[in-house]
Order: sequence, then C-alpha cells, then structure tokens
Amino acid sequence: MSAYEYIDHTYDVVVIGAGGSGLRATLGMAEQGLKTACVTKVFPTRSHTVAAQGGIAASLSNMGPDHWQWHLYDTVKGSDWLGDTDAMEYLAREAPKAVYELEHYGVPFSRTEDGRIYQRPFGGHTTEFGEGPPVQRTCAAADRTGHAILHTLYGQSLKNNAEFFIEYFALDLIFTEDGECQGVLAWKLDDGTIHRFSAKMVVLATGGYGRAYFSATSAHTCTGDGGGMVARQGLTLQDMEFVQFHPTGIYGAGVLITEGARGEGGYLTNSEGERFMERYAPTYKDLASRDVVSRCMTLEIREGRGVGEGKDHIHLHLDHLPKEALAERLPGITESARIFAGVDVTREPIPVLPTVHYNMGGVPTNYWGEVLNPTKKDHDAIQPGLMAVGEAGCASVHGANRLGSNSLIDLVVFGRAAAIKAGKVVDPETSNRPLNEASVEKSMARFDAFRHADGAMPTSELRLTMQRTMQADAAVFRTDKTLKEGVQKMADVAKGMHDIKVSDRSMIWNTDLMETLELANLMPNALATVVSAEARKESRGAHAQEDHPDRDDKSWRKHTLALVDDTDKVTLSYRDVHLDPLTSHDEGGIDLKKIAPKARVY
Ligand SMILES: Cc1cc2nc3c(=O)[nH]c(=O)nc-3n(C[C@H](O)[C@H](O)[C@H](O)COP(=O)(O)OP(=O)(O)OC[C@H]3O[C@@H](n4cnc5c(N)ncnc54)[C@H](O)[C@@H]3O)c2cc1C
Repeated sequence: MSAYEYIDHTYDVVVIGAGGSGLRATLGMAEQGLKTACVTKVFPTRSHTVAAQGGIAASLSNMGPDHWQWHLYDTVKGSDWLGDTDAMEYLAREAPKAVYELEHYGVPFSRTEDGRIYQRPFGGHTTEFGEGPPVQRTCAAADRTGHAILHTLYGQSLKNNAEFFIEYFALDLIFTEDGECQGVLAWKLDDGTIHRFSAKMVVLATGGYGRAYFSATSAHTCTGDGGGMVARQGLTLQDMEFVQFHPTGIYGAGVLITEGARGEGGYLTNSEGERFMERYAPTYKDLASRDVVSRCMTLEIREGRGVGEGKDHIHLHLDHLPKEALAERLPGITESARIFAGVDVTREPIPVLPTVHYNMGGVPTNYWGEVLNPTKKDHDAIQPGLMAVGEAGCASVHGANRLGSNSLIDLVVFGRAAAIKAGKVVDPETSNRPLNEASVEKSMARFDAFRHADGAMPTSELRLTMQRTMQADAAVFRTDKTLKEGVQKMADVAKGMHDIKVSDRSMIWNTDLMETLELANLMPNALATVVSAEARKESRGAHAQEDHPDRDDKSWRKHTLALVDDTDKVTLSYRDVHLDPLTSHDEGGIDLKKIAPKARVY
C-alpha cells in the first residue's frame, strides 16, 4: 500500500481536458444525461484553444459557392493523402452542422452585411476540387475565434450540469487487469489531495505536445500528457513524425501571427524585398499550404535571402492594408506585433519565422473518437473504455499536414461524435467495476519516485536539452543524417529522466514536481516523433526529407504506429490508411477519382 490516501469519485464519463475538444465532448455527454466530469490542469478558458485566432472551417457558402466535397478534397490534398478518407468525409460533412450548433450555443461570430456568419480565405482551402479560386470557408469571431468558442462551451457545459475538477493534474489512466480503461488518477494541485475517478468511459482531450520543441506557438501547458499516459499503458502513438510548423511565429518570441493575416491580404518578402511565394506557388502564393510556405521561407533563409542582422528571418507585410480593415479584422495580431516585436503593423513589416504549431500525430482513433489498439489481424481493433479527441487524438483527418482552421472544426466535430458514440455505448444503469488497486499503486509508486527524485539534473535543464535537440534534428528540414543523430541524441536525453532532480517535496502547488511529470510525458512523444521520422524514407506533408524528396505512395502510404516502452525503447509498426469514404458515389458521396493521389502543388 502506498502512503497516499484517496478521494474517490464515480462517473459515467470522465473527460480529461477542457479545451475546445474536451468541452464539446463534456457538453455533449452531459446533454444526454450522462453523469460527466471534466478534469483539467488549467482553468477551462485558459486552455490553449483560447489562443486560436484565425477561425473554423465549414462549407457554409456564405461568401460564395462552396461544397462539403470541395472541403473534403482540400483536406485530402492537405493531408498529402495520408488521412483516413472516412474520417475526413465525416469532418467535411458534419462541419456546417457543428458550426451552426456553436452559433446556437451563443458563439459571437463576426457577421456579413446581411447578418450571416463571416468567412475568410485560409491557406489550402479552394473551390472546384482545387481547380477554382480560393474559397472563403473559415468562420471567424474577429481574430479571437478560439476564445469565443471556449467561453461559450464552458457556459453551456455548466448549464447542463457537467461537473468540473479544475487545477487537477491527471497522473495516469487506471486499467483493469484485463486491459479495459476504467478511470483516471489525479492530483489536486492546490491542496495536494489525490483523487481516483472511476468511469465507464474516459476521454483524453489533453491537447498537443508543442513544448517538445524549443520554438512553439503553443502554451507552456501543451506537454502531451495524454500521449504519455497512453504510452505507459502499452498503447501506440500514430503518425508522430508529422509536426506542423506555422510560417509566421514572431521572430524570437514564437507568438503566432494568424494565417488570417495573409488571408486578409498580407504577404511575405525576403531581403531583396521580393514576394518570393509568387515564384514557388504561382497560383495560391502566400496562401499555399503551411508546410509549403514554411519550407519556402526556410529555403530563402538558407540561400542567404533572410532579413535582419543575422539574415535569419522573413518579413510579413500588412502595412499596405487599410487601417480600418486591420482594426476590425485583425485587432489581436496588431496588438501582438506591437508587444512582442515592437512593430506598428500599419507602417512596418513583422519579423517572422516558421515555428512549431501543431501535432498531426497522436492517439489513434476511429471517427467516433474510440481509441484503437491495432493488432496484426485487426488494424482497427478498439481499446475498451477509452476515447481521444482534439489535438491529442489522431482520427486521422490531418494526415501528414493540417490545413489552417481545420483543427477547431476537428475539435467540435469529433468532440460531438465522441459524445454521440458514448450515448450509445455507455449504460448509466450499470454500476462501475471496482478499481484495479494494482494499477493505482503502480502509478502512485511512480509519482512518489519523482516526488523524491534526488538526481543531478534539474528538470528545466533536461527540458531545454530535449527542446534544442528536437529543434535541431527533427524540425522543418530533415536528412538521413540529422534524423539518425536525433534518434541517438534523444535516447541519451531520455535517460536523463533517471537522474532527474526535484527540489520541492511538498504536495501543494509543487510546480517543480508538476513540470517534472510534464517532462516525463513529453519524453515518449518526442522519442516517438524522431524515431518515426527517421524510419520514413520519403517526403510527405510536414515530413520533408531532403535525401528522399519524393512522396512514395507504394511503400509509405501508411500510418506509423510507435510503441514507447518504459525503457524508452521505441518499436514501430504500420497501419493501413482507410481509403474508402463513408458514402459511395452513387449515394451522393465523392467520386473517388477526384481524390486519387497526385502531386501536391499549390
Ligand atoms: C496560437 C495558436 C493558434 C491557433 N489557431 C488556430 C485557428 O485559428 N484555427 C484552427 O483550426 N486551429 C488553430 N490552432 C490549433 C488549435 O487551436 C489546437 O489544435 C486546439 O485548440 C487544441 O485543442 P484541444 O481541445 O485538443 O486542447 P487544448 O485547447 O490544448 O486543451 C488541452 C486541455 O487539456 C488539459 N490537460 C492537459 N494535460 C492535462 C493533465 N495531465 N491533467 C488534466 N488536464 C490536462 C488542459 O488543462 C486543457 O484544458 C491554433 C493553435 C495555436 C497554438
């Protein structure tokens, strides 16, 4: 028996995370009368979703013709043909419904003259299956769309009697002896108590792991805790080699300048003042897909055409846009540019650099959010009792590369789908199985060991080493050599966890211990990323491998599965991509010829 006492809770569903996906799942569960708890390490409206500026994609056709099949085509192409077709169809088809639901819940969207939801252009979103001009598909609440969505969903969840456990740090999942997920263990940060949540369904909505890298647009809380918890239960992580760099993080600070800035007419220049994107992507120019723009910027810098003293960044111009448009459509980034770059956007360009922005990989799920535990025979075998949604999950709709504004829609579409599915599989009448004490004790022993860790390496130091390693060896440009070095270096870095030093032994507001637990979660995410990347001998989406510059559909149109064990060994296997849509062409679905693989040019 461990020396810790437990406070017990019993629910039908426990959602871990209160970002857009966690709140949409929580709300949907509670609306159906399921007894629902939402456990979150930060106050719900401080989740990283709050920072989403640009908007949420749905083919509403408010600004001109649009169609869900065009959205599906763009998503397939954006994913560089790695996304699962059934999940992508579900996303594109359900998107308008999910956005109208948000509107009815009270999200204060910006409006057109005639009162409809305002939509702006975003990179990679087009008409006529990529043959037509860019489309205005991205619904926006000024440049504070995530903020508006979070506040609305939190209010609605409270109204529907969902219970919130705020500033509780989820430590580990609890599994039965026969391998079913049956709850979660959490540490209440402000009073040091330990809580055991028993549930018939646990939903991971813990967000991404951007903080595995040195320069990231994501919050310091984005530490891949869900991926860590899953790895510790012997489950795999999928497609972790695909990490999206956003073209426009503010140079030095990493703070994001939304793609909406280019959507509203902003453009990039090099040291010669040239609008170089015209050269690389003649059709869509500065609104080509993110990985394309990031790579072009990196190329310009590598070829000596970067701006600034170190010739190490690029300029983003908004100074040609009318002042009123900037004030109305982009007030937040006008402020960010002033605070973080000291720039007045009406007069000067903003210094920008590609910065880690989104993790396409995560916990593998089907399009209902049910976690997969693939076996050799059944690549789609379901892990009982566990779901994953949002950036923590991998459905996979973003494949090798996510389109801008497709994440917010992923959060609400799949948060909602998880709730619909839970309504079918969770029976509120049955009682929960007794908790597996052995599973709890094992996690608490691990917690206790970190709490009393007395090695030589302070957490902040090891974290920085990890972040610099990932930034140097697993970033925009990848070669056989850098990736091989990255694998070796990361194996050494991970060993550092055994020599970690925690100075604070208390249980109350022990941020030292919390950051150590977060680092321990980042580690398997980082390992899976670099090992999966080293193995993939092709270029696809965000994974641009200089020694293997072409996409190789014959050998590599498959999902990577990475199993990270407790000795930090990473074992890879692969899973088939779902090629079949949900609806056949005869029944109104997409013509498969339209989404057949081809070169991805913009
Ligand atoms: C700056 C920025 C701008 C963006 N702009 C856009 C945009 O305009 N459009 C778009 O589509 N996408 C955008 N994205 C991407 C999108 O916002 C994110 O992918 C999305 O918000 C992630 O939501 P989430 O629900 O998965 O998790 P998050 O919002 O990251 O929330 C994670 C939740 O999990 C909880 N949690 C994590 N670990 C634990 C733990 N151990 N115990 C308890 N709770 C835990 C946290 O408390 C938090 O509530 C942007 C991302 C960034 C970083």
